[in-house]
Amino acid sequence: MSDPLRFVKPAVRRVAAYTLAPRPSRVKLDQNENPYELPDTVKRHVLERAMARPWARYPDFNPEPFCARLAAHAGWRADGVLAGNGSNELIEALLMVTVSEGTPVVIPEPTFTLYSLLTGILGGRAVPVPLDDRLRYDAPALSAAQRDSGATLTIVCSPNNPTGCSLSRDAIEELCAGSGLVVVDEAYGEFATWSAVELLERHPNLIVLRTFSKAVALAGLRVGYLLAAPELVREINKARLPYNLNFFSQIAAETALDDWGSVSGAIARILREREALAAALARVPGVRCYPSDGNFLLVELRDAKPRPVFEALAAEGILVRDVSRYPRLERCLRISVGSPEESLALLDALPGALERGREQLEAQ
Ligand code: PMP
Repeated sequence: MSDPLRFVKPAVRRVAAYTLAPRPSRVKLDQNENPYELPDTVKRHVLERAMARPWARYPDFNPEPFCARLAAHAGWRADGVLAGNGSNELIEALLMVTVSEGTPVVIPEPTFTLYSLLTGILGGRAVPVPLDDRLRYDAPALSAAQRDSGATLTIVCSPNNPTGCSLSRDAIEELCAGSGLVVVDEAYGEFATWSAVELLERHPNLIVLRTFSKAVALAGLRVGYLLAAPELVREINKARLPYNLNFFSQIAAETALDDWGSVSGAIARILREREALAAALARVPGVRCYPSDGNFLLVELRDAKPRPVFEALAAEGILVRDVSRYPRLERCLRISVGSPEESLALLDALPGALERGREQLEAQ
C-alpha cells in the first residue's frame, strides 16, 4: 500500500497543527474570552429575531447592510468591509490571495501562531522579527526586515497576542510607506488606546482585522471583519467561501452593535481589572508581569517552570495558557483578564502553584 500521506504537501507535513486541549475548569483564563456574557435581554432579542427568519433559507450572499453597520461602527467605508466566520477565516482568505510558493511574509516573534502556520501551508516564507529584550515591538527591525525581504505582507498583531505590546502609529505608517501590504490584527483593539482604522484613508495597502470574539463576548458565534481599500476587499472576497457568515451569528452581532452600551460597560470593567490584576501579580514574589494593551497579561516566572505551575493551577480548576513553547517565552504564562472573583481565585492558588514550579526547576 502506498503511503497516502505522500499526497499531502510537504509544507503541510512540516507544520504543527493549531490545537488547544480542552480541560474542565471553574476559572477559565486561557482563551482571552470575555468573562461578561451579553445580557439575557440582548440574547432573547437575538433569539426572537432569529425565530422570525426562515432557517431553511441561506443567509445573505453579500451581507451588505451588515457590512454597512460594521463600517459605521468602525469608522470606515461600507465597500471596504468583509465579514467572516471569525477573523481567523479572514486571515486565511487574505493569505490565500496573497501568498504562494516563496512569498516573503514578515511576522514578528512571538505572536499569534496562525499567521506563520497558514503562511507555511501556502508555501510562503515567514520572515521572523524578534520582539526587543523587553518584549516590545522593534519597529526599526520590522522595517528593515520588510525592506530586506521585499515583503509581500507584513503582519502585526496589535495589541500582540501573547505579549500585550502594541505597535505605534508612526511605526505602522512607516511600514505602510514600505513594500507590500501591511496587516494589523486588532483582535484586541477595543482594549487599546487607538486604532489603525484611522490610517486606512491614507494607506491603500493597509488591512485591519477585527473580531466579535473578545471585547464583544461572542466567541461562540464566530464573527470577525476585515477593513481595507475596496479594491483589495474585492480580491480577498474571492477566497471567501459562499455563505460563510451564518444568519444567527450575523443577527447576534447586529444586536450587540445595537446594544453597544453593555459591551462598552464590559470593556471598562475588564480594563479596570487588568490594572488591578497586573498590580497584584507584580507583588507576587518571583513573577514579572509585562504591560498589556489587551485583555490578558503575560507573566514571566523568575525561578519556576511554567508547565508545572500551569498543571498545579489546572488541578485547582484554574486554566491559564502555557505559552512556554513560544520562542523567547520559555518562562512565561499568559493569563486572560477575568472577573475580580476569578482574579482572586488565581491569586489565591498562584503561590502554591509557583512552589511546584520551583521544585521542578530545582529537580532538573
Ligand atoms: N487574531 C488574534 C490575535 C487572536 O488572538 C485570535 C483568537 N485567539 C484571532 C485573531 C481569531 O479570532 P476569531 O477567529 O475568534 O475572530
